[in-house]
Amino acid sequence: MIPVTTFAGRPVALFGLGGSGLATAKALVAGGADVTAWDDNPDSVAKAKAEGISTCDLHGIDWSLQAAFVLSPGVPLTHPKPHWTVDLARAAGVEIIGDVELFVRERRAYAPDCPFIAITGTNGKSTTTALIAHILRSSGRDTQLGGNIGTAVLTLDPPKAGRFYVVECSSYQIDLAPTINPTAGILLNLTPDHLDRHGTMQHYADVKERLVAGSDTAVVGVDDTYCTLIADRIARAGVSVKRISRRNVLSDGFYAQGSQIIAASGGATDMLADLDGIDTLKGSHNAQNAAAAIAACLAVGVSREEICAGLKSFPGLKHRMQPVARIGRATFVNDSKATNADAAAPALSSYARIFWIAGGLPKAGGIASLAPLFPRIVKAYLIGEAAPEFAATLGETVPYEISGSLDRALLHAAADALADGQEVAVMLSPACASFDQFRNFEIRGDTFVSLVAELDGVTMLIEPEKGQ
Ligand code: ADP
Repeated sequence: MIPVTTFAGRPVALFGLGGSGLATAKALVAGGADVTAWDDNPDSVAKAKAEGISTCDLHGIDWSLQAAFVLSPGVPLTHPKPHWTVDLARAAGVEIIGDVELFVRERRAYAPDCPFIAITGTNGKSTTTALIAHILRSSGRDTQLGGNIGTAVLTLDPPKAGRFYVVECSSYQIDLAPTINPTAGILLNLTPDHLDRHGTMQHYADVKERLVAGSDTAVVGVDDTYCTLIADRIARAGVSVKRISRRNVLSDGFYAQGSQIIAASGGATDMLADLDGIDTLKGSHNAQNAAAAIAACLAVGVSREEICAGLKSFPGLKHRMQPVARIGRATFVNDSKATNADAAAPALSSYARIFWIAGGLPKAGGIASLAPLFPRIVKAYLIGEAAPEFAATLGETVPYEISGSLDRALLHAAADALADGQEVAVMLSPACASFDQFRNFEIRGDTFVSLVAELDGVTMLIEPEKGQ
C-alpha cells in the first residue's frame, strides 16, 4: 500500500467505497488523514466501517473544513450530471481529486525521479499497459503495474528511487488528476466512447489531452483527427512529442510497416522491432500498441535489446486474443473479451483460417458488420441465445453448426481443426455478452481455457488456473 501522507492531520471527505474507493480510504488513513467516507450503497458503507474507516452521510459534514474531496472514478463528476457530493464540494470550494492524483502527489513528494508511465486512449489501454510492464519486468526492473487495469494504484508499493510505475488511466481518473505528470504519457487513440459520461467528444478529448499535456515525453497515436490535433497543440506548448502511426509513414516518429516498427527522425529510418511471429501481438491494432510501448520504454531508458526481448516473450493479456494452447497445427485462442462484433473484428482479422466459436447474449446489430471477414471462417460453432440469429446472418456463406454449449462447440471445432491439417485457429471470440451462460466474460474465457486443457495431445502455452 502507498500511505497517502500529503493530507496527514487534515480532514478529507471521500465518496465511493467500491474496490478502489475502499483502498483509497485505507491509504489516506494509513498516511494520517482524518477521513470521512460515504457511499450510496449501505453494504459498501458497512464493509468500510468493519475495516475501521470512519463513515458518515456527507450531507451532514462541514464541507468548509475539508482539505480535499476524494471521489471514486465510477461516480459522475460532470455527466450526465454531477453527483450530489460534487455539488456540495464545489459550493464549499473544496478541490475534487481521485486516487491517481493522490499517487502523483506522493511520488512528487518522495521519489519525483522514479519513472512513471501513464497510458490512456479509447482502445488498447490494457494491452499496452501490460506490454510495457512486461518489458520492464523481464529486463529486471522493479515494476509496479496498476490503475484502471485492475489493481488500485494506491495498493501498489510506495514510490522509491529506481522503481517503475506503469498506470492505466481511464478518462474518469484523468478528470480527477489535475496535476498528473508522467515521465512518459501515452494517448493511443480517440474514438467516440462513454459519451454518456463525458457529454461531448470534445470534452472527452480535452480530458484525455491532460494526461499527455503534463508528460515529460508524450507518446500520441496520430491515426485519428482528435489525437493529431492534440499532438500538434502540446508540441507547440513545448512538450516533447513522439508520434505513433499504424497507418502512415511518418517523417518523425514511430510507425508500423507491415509487422515492422520503424523509428524515423531527421530523414533517417531505423527498424526497431519486427512483430512477425509474435502471436500475442498480431494485428495492426497491436502494432499501434507495440509502437507506443516501444516509444515509452525508450523514453524511460530501456535499451532496444531489452525491448525486443520483452516483445518476443509477451504472454498476452488474458481473454484478449490470447493464444492459450497448440495441438498439431491448431492454435487455440481465447478472445472472450470480444463482447460485440466490433471487438471481435481484430481477432478475426488476425488469422487466415478460423474455426470460430461465437454466440451468447446478442447485442444490437449482430454480426452483419463482420461479413468482410467471413471468408476467413472455415466453420462457425454457435452457442447461447444468439445462435439462431447468427446462423441467419452466416446463411449460405459460412458453414456453421448450432452447438448450443461451449464444451460441445470446442470438441467439434477441435476435431474439425485437426482434421483440416493446415495452420488454423480455434477461436472463442463470441461477439456477444456472456450472461446467458456465464457470470461474466472472464469466467467464459477461463472455462474455455480449462476445456482446452483437457483436449488430447494439447500443449498449453499458459497455465490454465492463473492465465498469464
Ligand atoms: P482497453 O483496455 O482500452 O479496453 P484492451 O487492451 O483491453 O483495451 O483491448 C480490448 C480490445 O480492443 C481488444 O480485444 C481489441 O479487439 C481492441 N484493441 C486493442 N488495441 C487496440 C487499438 N490500438 N486500436 C483499436 N482497437 C484495439
